[in-house]
Amino acid sequence: MTNIEVIQADITTLSVDAIVNAANNSLLGGGGVDGAIHRAAGPDLLAECKTLGGCSTGDAKITAGYNLPAKHVIHTVGPIWQGGNNNEAKLLAACYRNSLQLAVANNLTSIAFPAISCGVYAFPVDQAAEIAVAEISQFAASNPQLEKIYLVAFGDEMKSVLENKIKND
Ligand code: ADP
Repeated sequence: MTNIEVIQADITTLSVDAIVNAANNSLLGGGGVDGAIHRAAGPDLLAECKTLGGCSTGDAKITAGYNLPAKHVIHTVGPIWQGGNNNEAKLLAACYRNSLQLAVANNLTSIAFPAISCGVYAFPVDQAAEIAVAEISQFAASNPQLEKIYLVAFGDEMKSVLENKIKND
């Protein structure tokens, strides 16, 4: 049985099997949560990312966690919000699904997600939270070997939006 929990935290501090990085297509680092993860993991993370050949939007790739307390980083690339008619919702759902699939394929049992696309990529927070909760709930229902899924809010607003979605799911 999977436990899903909303927490407010800096995702780089979490001791889980994998933290998810909201990366960009190059996988070579960026701002926001991506920058924080690379800073905390150290330069070996960038060295491994350079071997991966980038990542398509909606896909996910796994690396080691290096200096992070997390054992692995699952890098996924969220869609840039362009008004909603460019497949943004489906691509965001795919980020959650493909990251979870990669976790299970690597026998991981705990994973923590940031609010993918909700920063610089400007996805509307309410809709993004709805998609996140729907995807992880659906995945968890058929993958009970996954013990713990954290939805990590960086700020107060995201925390309350996510909590409301979980309650009403
Ligand atoms: P994107 O480009 O996918 O929008 P961002 O990194 O700009 O990615 O933002 C994604 C979300 O991650 C935002 O809600 C932002 O507040 C949050 N965030 C930024 N830094 C951290 C961190 N250290 N831990 C957890 N969440 C973070």
